[in-house]
Amino acid sequence: MTNLEDLPIRNDLKGLKPYGAPQLDVPVQLNVNENTFGIPEAVAIDIIQELAAEVIKLNRYPDREFLELRGAFASYLGQGLRAEQVWAANGSNEIITQIFQAFGGPGKTALSFGPTYSMYPNIARITLTEYQELPRLEDFQLTAEYVANKLADLKPSIVLLCSPNNPTGTPIDNSIISAAYGAFDGILVVDEAYAEFSSQDSALQLLSGRPRLIVSRTMSKAFAFAGARVGYLAADEAIVDALRIVRLPYHLSALTQAAARAALRHSDLMLANVEQIKVQRDRMIAQLDTMGLRAFASDANFVLVEGFKDPHQIFEALLAKGIIVRNVGIPNTLRITAGTESETTRLLGELALILG
Ligand code: PMP
Repeated sequence: MTNLEDLPIRNDLKGLKPYGAPQLDVPVQLNVNENTFGIPEAVAIDIIQELAAEVIKLNRYPDREFLELRGAFASYLGQGLRAEQVWAANGSNEIITQIFQAFGGPGKTALSFGPTYSMYPNIARITLTEYQELPRLEDFQLTAEYVANKLADLKPSIVLLCSPNNPTGTPIDNSIISAAYGAFDGILVVDEAYAEFSSQDSALQLLSGRPRLIVSRTMSKAFAFAGARVGYLAADEAIVDALRIVRLPYHLSALTQAAARAALRHSDLMLANVEQIKVQRDRMIAQLDTMGLRAFASDANFVLVEGFKDPHQIFEALLAKGIIVRNVGIPNTLRITAGTESETTRLLGELALILG
């Protein structure tokens, strides 16, 4: 075996490490904003039956256009969307990558307002797209005026607005999104990975008449389907046509399509725990505030908590108790996923002990 340093790797990738949160098998995993409730058994059985029917046909390539699954997503999203306006891929990370492959690349610039989802700069790098992250305002908020002025000034090719925003939990009002859209000529991506936890209107409502707007979603969060790797988007049909040019043929396996179709048939059951998770999120916010910490207002299934002198030490102390959270690198903070009632109780109890 040789060393990575000795390989003729792309110059811009030299010295880089693979991206990813630590994957540790501990009892309480509150680090990657999954839905910590398992798949309901009735749904699991239906998925297995749907998979079984596909397994015997795996000698054939899958349906490259997967209109049946796209139709199921369109029905799930509502808003009168048609299958042709929906696209899916292996997680919304792949969705965003395909958007960059089609609309980014050399000579193009992507822009977001940070702190925000840490894969955006990585995807920009992989696709040779220049990336710029402008700071958010007080308490990680944005205003229509601030966003519109920056976009009009900088004229990026792609803008990413994450709502609710990872890692801060901050939602973005549709008035800001429509102001952003009007301020520049590029592609506006609203990343709604956590939409089902949010009390805000979805940017899906803005799609009509806005052919450069993309709303990205995922089954990885509220939908409790992170392991299946299914992300999707809704946009103008022409956007989908652009993505069909850059996608690799047969990118979505027959098994993935079958599992997603079956899960979508049970969307009510798959999403049944969303309200409970929101209760635990709000309980965390209230209780952390009484512990001398500050949890930022969150519309997602996680909270960004400020007030740790040494976040790394708290991370390690929680880990020693079997609880993993996320240090996203914002000074004095940790990000904690809202889990089940008992997971939240354990987290809050151990944190109280550690903070003494
Ligand atoms: N967007 C945001 C804001 C996220 O937080 C995540 C996952 N952490 C993703 C996209 C990607 O999720 P997936 O690829 O599992 O759909």
